[in-house]
Amino acid sequence: MAKSLNGIGASDGIAISKAYLLIEPDLSYSNDKISDVSAEVEKFQNAINQSKVELMQIRNNAEVALGADKAAIFDAHLLVLEDPELISPIEDNIKNNQANAASALMEVAQNFITIFESMDNEYMKERAADIRDVSKRVLSHILGVKLPNPSMIDESVVIIAEDLTPSDTAQLNKEFVQGFVTNIGGRTSHSAIMSRSLEIPAVVGTKDVTEQVSEGDIVIVDGSTGEVIINPEASVIESYKEKQSAFIAEKEALKQLINDPSVSKDGVHVELAANIGTPDDLVGVKNNGAEGIGLYRTEFLYMGRDQMPSEDEQFEAYKTVLSAMEGKRVVVRTLDIGGDKELPYLNLPKEMNPFLGYRAIRLCLDQQDIFRTQLRALLRASEFGKLSIMFPMIATINEFRSAKAILEEEKSKLAESGVNVSNDIELGIMVEIPSTAAMADIFAKEVDFFSIGTNDLIQYTMAADRMSERVSYLYQPYNPAILRLVKQVIDASHKEGKWTGMCGEMAGDTTAIPLLLGLGLDEFSMSATSILKARKQIKNLSQADMKKLAEKAINCATQEEVVALVNEIQ
Ligand code: PEP
Ligand code: MG
Repeated sequence: MAKSLNGIGASDGIAISKAYLLIEPDLSYSNDKISDVSAEVEKFQNAINQSKVELMQIRNNAEVALGADKAAIFDAHLLVLEDPELISPIEDNIKNNQANAASALMEVAQNFITIFESMDNEYMKERAADIRDVSKRVLSHILGVKLPNPSMIDESVVIIAEDLTPSDTAQLNKEFVQGFVTNIGGRTSHSAIMSRSLEIPAVVGTKDVTEQVSEGDIVIVDGSTGEVIINPEASVIESYKEKQSAFIAEKEALKQLINDPSVSKDGVHVELAANIGTPDDLVGVKNNGAEGIGLYRTEFLYMGRDQMPSEDEQFEAYKTVLSAMEGKRVVVRTLDIGGDKELPYLNLPKEMNPFLGYRAIRLCLDQQDIFRTQLRALLRASEFGKLSIMFPMIATINEFRSAKAILEEEKSKLAESGVNVSNDIELGIMVEIPSTAAMADIFAKEVDFFSIGTNDLIQYTMAADRMSERVSYLYQPYNPAILRLVKQVIDASHKEGKWTGMCGEMAGDTTAIPLLLGLGLDEFSMSATSILKARKQIKNLSQADMKKLAEKAINCATQEEVVALVNEIQ
């Protein structure tokens, strides 16, 4: 029987494929004693051997799909399985205490994890993480339960998951993943943003897709409407195939605009730039006619690996992006880790409210070695293109001043050692925190530009978690409160002769674009795949008319009234 579900459309397009459930299985086990010791030891040894075979396959796949550095983590896991100091005590535990294989394994593994984690040594902490991963794999074989291995996917699938973390996404082979559907998340959760830059149709925030879909079900994902259909009838599949073809044809037609400037009907030029996460995204930037890069989320360089990227590694990535953009502006955001973006090797403390906690510039100003390494890499790369640097999550002018002072120090040190650094680097901030929007006139005197991060600005202004589908009704981009803050920031920058961009998802939203054009936004930075559609829309709008529309919108009482106003004109 066909079933359908509704979620939040996160990335346009239609996917029709077999479901692959990326779900933590139930790995609970009993502590019952056993009587046949040698059979239990054999069971344990079999599980070790099965885990080795599996890890070797995963390792080889990861090397082909993701490169040798990402595959190296599985070599470390294989070594754990060979380590007699771990294996012998488990076998002894079975033999001496009649412990069953599962409980013998987990008791010994947990002892090692506790000891290693308590050491003040990064290397040992990483070993604790390896033992945790490996013992889970061996346990799954003892229990006869299948662990999902996303890096092993080798056929077309739609991924079904609670959520996809950035590191899950980094393990997916894009060739086979046709779409994904998650239980949690909203349009601005990172899984949603990632799906747009990968051009994978996605629906998020369905609440319970993981309970509704079974492995191997056929699933249709409509990323535009948020609809998910499970085991559809043949006629429904046919009609979605037609919809899929129409979507592809529309995308092709937009390609005609690729070299056009982004100019409104009354001749106002705005910049349509792209948001990227890695140098791999440059293909999309070129294919969609971006006029620059308005947000390079550098944290992806730090994720999906088990140690910090070196200064040289970072330098190479920044140089690649700057050179490829051939003199067009590239706005690089310094490390914005924390919130829903974790770095396991940093061992960040667990917090009650990670979005309000130790993250982004707060962490960089505290752990300055990390920050200085990144700034040096950026400064060294600056001579290869037009670099702008911006700091994320600025809440006070003192944070900006401190970050700027550190940047200046690194610049002077590099100059003293004879390294070439561009003398034309713009320095800006993201406006994501209401305190900064409120103080925009003060900031505007000291920064070169603003980039409004509405993904966070909306969640902090409305006090509505961007990850929570339960409060997504309060996550209101068109609420006059948000429009007023945006106006205040743009006006403050213009008064000081500076520019304002927007790199939150709102910048590429077809309902927001007329309003933002009217409010005087200078740069719109969005998923590359939204650029051509936005260009077509702006060509058909007059800025003078949109100014009047925006004026009315900021005086509306509700988001619904604002949307109704916009719908009247398009
Ligand atoms: C934002 O908050 O709008 C933004 C662009 O940053 P991120 O989505 O990476 O938090
Ligand atoms: Mg943000």
